Amino acid sequence: MARYIGPVCKVCRREGSKLYLKGERCYSDKCSFERKPATPGVQGVGRRIKKSEYGLQLREKQKVKYSYGLLEKQFRNQFFAADKAKGVTADTFFRGLELRLDNVVYRMGFGRSRNEARQLVRHNHIYVNGKKLNIPSAKVKVGDEITVKEKSRSMSGFELATELYGKRVPLPWFEVDHSKLTGKVTQSNER
Ligand code: SF4
Repeated sequence: MARYIGPVCKVCRREGSKLYLKGERCYSDKCSFERKPATPGVQGVGRRIKKSEYGLQLREKQKVKYSYGLLEKQFRNQFFAADKAKGVTADTFFRGLELRLDNVVYRMGFGRSRNEARQLVRHNHIYVNGKKLNIPSAKVKVGDEITVKEKSRSMSGFELATELYGKRVPLPWFEVDHSKLTGKVTQSNER
């Protein structure tokens, strides 16, 4: 299961917006994007490059891809699946991304970033409806209950993740109980 392992702050600077890929650092004044927002590389310093329509669309696509921690092929497959399904493709596409297990764990505030949430899943700390599930791309459904394994609840990191969760806009399609590290998907997400 491949994933992007390059420097993530450079990605934010290249895309020209904060993508919150690094957990608590993103909320502090150590954030690279806040300190040097120019595009990485010599060319980026002080240059304004006019982007074509294609360039604009490419950058938007890259933002989504990096935000959800996907590689190009995974992103493409996700899009083709949404394209084949009934309904508005963009809505189906984003619904599919939002319901990935690693994203749900992040959105519920059990991980400081999607990367950390993915690691929690891969390292068997997450249960779905009482059963261990260690596939980050697995899709959860409305009504599914996500819990952190009982033995893992004393691990450091959850408190800070909860604190960061408080800084984000809460999403209405989850019910989360941080004292028990459990959450439920209550409704289908809207774009
Ligand atoms: Fe992006 Fe976070 Fe790095 Fe800031 S600290 S540049 S938001 S990944």
